[in-house]
Amino acid sequence: MIRRAASDIRAAVDELSRLDSATGDGDHGSAMLRSMDAAEKALAEAGESASPKDVLFQAGWAVMSAAGGATGPLLGSLLMGLSEGFGDNPRLDAAGTAAAFEAALASVRKQTKAQPGDKTMMDALVPAVTAIREAADAGAGIPAALKQAAEAAAKGAEATVTMQARFGRAKNLGERSIGSVDAGARSMALLLAGFAAALGGK
Ligand SMILES: [Mg+2]
Repeated sequence: MIRRAASDIRAAVDELSRLDSATGDGDHGSAMLRSMDAAEKALAEAGESASPKDVLFQAGWAVMSAAGGATGPLLGSLLMGLSEGFGDNPRLDAAGTAAAFEAALASVRKQTKAQPGDKTMMDALVPAVTAIREAADAGAGIPAALKQAAEAAAKGAEATVTMQARFGRAKNLGERSIGSVDAGARSMALLLAGFAAALGGK
């Protein structure tokens, strides 16, 4: 899942920087590139026998130290929250996956007070986590739950076009921040789409 997300995000680095240039400093593509490189390196170093908990913790730690600005702490805490959420559970099912993503969201919320509607990554992440939970509660498997999460994230990211930024540098632009997709919401949607694609959810 991390490898597929990393590959999809690498293919979109220019797009992410362009989106960030519209309202910020244009570094989001390179920050995501550094993050994905760090996550994949941690994955390789953890080895085949490492648990999801350990891999995600190490990847989260690596991302936090590799990418500066807002991206490193936010994405790093997302991965570390997933690690905590999966815990030592030896069996991964949809309910456990929903709980892990809820823990990830809680972990991100320790880093930012941004809410849906503020034109940030939260506009993709929050509806995605809700979608995983609803899918799991409805009896879906992990691939289907992640596919629904990816769809919710894509929709949430797209909806940031009409929003005015209330966080980050973009906030200073006021109404001029309206009219482009938020770069962080777009990269969050790409991450979740990569996760879903890796599992081939239908
Ligand atoms: Mg930036």
